[in-house]
Amino acid sequence: PLLDPSEGLRVYADDRAHLFHSWAAQGAVSPIPVAGAQGRHFWDYDGKRYLDFSSQFINTNIGHGHPKVVAAIKEQADRICMIASTFANDKRGEAARLIAGLAPGDLNRVLFTNGGAEANEHAVRMARVHTGRTKVMAAYRSYHGGTSTAIGLTGDPRRWDNDAAGNSGSGVVHFFGPYLYRSHFHATTEAEESARALAHLEQTIIFEGPRTIAAIILESIVGTAGVLIPPPGYLAGVRALCDKYGIVYIADEVMSGFGRAGAWFAVDHWSVTPDLITFAKGVNSGYVPLGGVIISDEIHETFRDRVYQGGLTYSGHPLACAAAVATISAMQEEGMIDNAARLGEEVIGPRLREIAAAHPSVGEVRGTGVFWAIELVRDPETREMLVPYAGVGAQNAPVNEVVAACKQAGLWPVYNFNRIHVVPPCNTTDDEALHGLAILDEALKIADSYVTT
Ligand code: PLP
Repeated sequence: PLLDPSEGLRVYADDRAHLFHSWAAQGAVSPIPVAGAQGRHFWDYDGKRYLDFSSQFINTNIGHGHPKVVAAIKEQADRICMIASTFANDKRGEAARLIAGLAPGDLNRVLFTNGGAEANEHAVRMARVHTGRTKVMAAYRSYHGGTSTAIGLTGDPRRWDNDAAGNSGSGVVHFFGPYLYRSHFHATTEAEESARALAHLEQTIIFEGPRTIAAIILESIVGTAGVLIPPPGYLAGVRALCDKYGIVYIADEVMSGFGRAGAWFAVDHWSVTPDLITFAKGVNSGYVPLGGVIISDEIHETFRDRVYQGGLTYSGHPLACAAAVATISAMQEEGMIDNAARLGEEVIGPRLREIAAAHPSVGEVRGTGVFWAIELVRDPETREMLVPYAGVGAQNAPVNEVVAACKQAGLWPVYNFNRIHVVPPCNTTDDEALHGLAILDEALKIADSYVTT
C-alpha cells in the first residue's frame, strides 16, 4: 500500500497530545508511528521496515497478521462479539479444552483473564483460599505484571517506586533463583547451582514459617530479567519442596508458554507439573487480549461447593477465545513449536555462540527455542555488567547505542539493562533469523569498544 508520511506525523501528534504511555516518563516518549505489519516485519509511514526480533512484547508468537487467525476473528465478530461468561460459548469452551489438553498432568480447568498480570492475581488468590495461608514466595529477577499483587511479586526495579508509593501487594517474600553466570551460591556447575539454590529456597521457607506460605510463583524460564534457564533438577526440586510443605506451585508461563521456549509450556522441558499455570501473550499471539490460569483438579475441588470470589466482565471474551483456537490450530498445522525448537538449536544458538566468540563484550549467550539473551560485559574476566543493574541516564549509553544501531539497520530487538534479547516469532525463517543476527553481530562492535581489558 502507498504510505503517506504526513499521515505518520498526524498519528504521532495525536499520540503525543493525548496518550499516556506505560512504564515511561511522559516527557521522554517518542514512539515510531507504525503503518502496518505482516509476518515478521512492521513498517512506518516513511516505508522503513523493521525485522521484529521482539515479537512486540514477546507475544506475537505467530508473527503479524496471520491470515487464519485474522479470518477467525472476523468470522467470530460476524457471529457474536460478546456473550457474558455466565453463558456457555463454543469458542470459549473449545479454547479451554485445547489449553487444558496442552497443559501437563491434571491441569484440566481454565479461568480466563485479559492478560498475564490478572492471571497471576487470580492464581495467588486461588492459592491463598486453597491453603488458608497468605504469604507468597517469588524470585528476585522476575516480572509478574503491573497490577498490585503482580508488581508486588515482581523481583525487578519496576517494583521499587511502587513499594515506595504503597502500590505493591503485601505478603511477598523474595528469594534468589539459579543463575550460574552470576551465581549467588558460589557454584561452578549447573548441578551445584541447582542444589544450592534449592537449599537456599528451603532455608527461606523454614525461616519464614512453612505454615504461613500459600504459594511459590516462578517463571519457568525467567523472561525479561534475563532468559534464565533453570538447571536440570531445579523445577523438580521446587515441586518437591511445595509437596513437602503443602505450598501451591504456580508456574508463570505468560512469556515462556505457547512456543516461546520451543515447547507448548517451558515446564515440558523438565516434565514438571505445577498446581497452577498462568498464561497470556502467545496463547493467541496477542491479536485480542487474553490470559488465564490453568487449574489442577485438587484446587478446582476447593471451589466445587465454595464460591470463587473473583471474575471479570471480559473473562473468556469470544473474540479472544476464537483467536486462541485459531492460533493453537495454526501453530499445530504449521509445526511452529518444532520450528521454534529447531531454530534455537540449529540456527540462533550456534550463530549466537559464534557471535559470543567474536565479541569480547559478550559475556554469555543462553536460551532455547526463540527465547535468547546476550549478556554484555565491560570486562569478560570480572563479568562487570556493560551497564549496571537499574542503570539510569548516561550509564545506559553503551546498550542504547547498540540498540540504536540495530534499529538504524532495520532490526527491532529487545533490551533490558546489560542484555539484548533475541525473541522473534516462532515461525521466523532461517534467513530472517540469520539476517537479524548479522545486524546484531555488526552492532555489537559498539559494545566491544567499551570493553576495558
Ligand atoms: N508474567 C510474565 C512472566 C511476563 O513476562 C508478563 C509480561 O511481560 C506478565 C506476567 C504480565 O503480563 P501482562 O502484561 O499481560 O499483564
